[in-house]
Amino acid sequence: MDRRDFLKCTLTLAALAPLARLTAQTGAAAAGADAGTESGKLTRRRFRDTDLTLPLLGFGMMRLPQKNGAIDSAAGQKLVDYAMKAGLNYFDTAWPYHGGRSELFVGEALSRYPRESYLLADKLPVRSIKSLQDAERIFQEQLRKCRTGYFDFYLLHALNRGNWETVKRCGLYDFVRRMQKEGKIRYVGFSFHDSPDVLKTIAEAHPWDFVQLQINYLDWHNYRSREQYEIVTKLGIPVIVMEPLRGGTLATLTSEATKILKTSAPDASPADWAFRYVASLPNVICVLSGMNRMDHLKENLRVYSPLHPLSDSERLTLASALAAYQKVDSVPCTACNYCVPCPVEVAIPRVFGAYNQYKIDGNFAAFKKAIDALPNEGGPASCVSCGVCLKKCPQKIDIPTQMKRIAAELKKK
Ligand code: SF4
Ligand code: SF4
Repeated sequence: MDRRDFLKCTLTLAALAPLARLTAQTGAAAAGADAGTESGKLTRRRFRDTDLTLPLLGFGMMRLPQKNGAIDSAAGQKLVDYAMKAGLNYFDTAWPYHGGRSELFVGEALSRYPRESYLLADKLPVRSIKSLQDAERIFQEQLRKCRTGYFDFYLLHALNRGNWETVKRCGLYDFVRRMQKEGKIRYVGFSFHDSPDVLKTIAEAHPWDFVQLQINYLDWHNYRSREQYEIVTKLGIPVIVMEPLRGGTLATLTSEATKILKTSAPDASPADWAFRYVASLPNVICVLSGMNRMDHLKENLRVYSPLHPLSDSERLTLASALAAYQKVDSVPCTACNYCVPCPVEVAIPRVFGAYNQYKIDGNFAAFKKAIDALPNEGGPASCVSCGVCLKKCPQKIDIPTQMKRIAAELKKK
């Protein structure tokens, strides 16, 4: 996105603010006004026209702290305890996170709190479902793993054109609404990875309670997040944001981009800017962050305690930083891990992570060292272009082509 495009999107945001207010008044409401804007207090947003409020920062359970290849429960529990104490009581897990162990951890960590004190979101893994019986079995298993009798928010996971066909064929929308009637789900939504036209079809098909979208300032145009946001906002569906930092990418910018931001606000990190950007959208009700370090959790809480929406001049500053950052030729990987395991054990997200870091800091020796240290010769040269990973990547990255390109770059030097 160039500076002109970014300015255009700034104007779009301004145009959407009155729209959100209007829809709230007419009852097609999405996110309500901020509740709690006192200094030091985490901002909360009202959910539709209910009495329920969500913390602006939600805890994504897909990147928990790890030790010896497993979730480090003690470290994770400390994060959960700190979050709960700070008023961050929205936790988002899913069937495939951490190979199925995220839900178990969530059950263990939250069972020490009264059930009504936290909000739990889980997702039906549509991609793994072949029949309604599969959905029923998995749903019961999720309740058991999470040690709960109900989910506050329940999503059909990672909908796209293909998964939407599965939803229709297996009757999964009716299934989740039935679970809602039985008191096992409070609110029904879906998470999404595809083009705006597919989103429009799905969003208009049913009266969804909420939706989870990938939004950040890099994807606003690149991933067509702006169009997606506009579609659901017009329908009055509130948005939960995933990937506000694009898998951590926006936490570390190039030196030129960082300098622009630091000149404007010396104490703010690039992550602060990214978090404020998405939360400044009026129809956003909660922003998920996968936090595995205490300093990140504290930092993110600080940004939203309370939220100070971006001013017009700050948006211009961010536009300049983005233009500087986009000179870098990186791979748009969010490190979601959906593409692994690879049959020949290429460590796909780690290769892209090391490559992107190299593109930012220019440290080839560190890049090469990181690739050489990958277990089981998991570097880009091991890729046999089998294509197994291609269907799994929600960002639609041409992984084998990128692997070839990175392997060639490693060889050149
Ligand atoms: S295309 Fe390459 S990276 Fe992808 S699954 Fe096949 S071998 Fe692994
Ligand atoms: S390559 Fe795609 S699927 Fe794999 S971790 Fe990156 S974004 Fe996720």
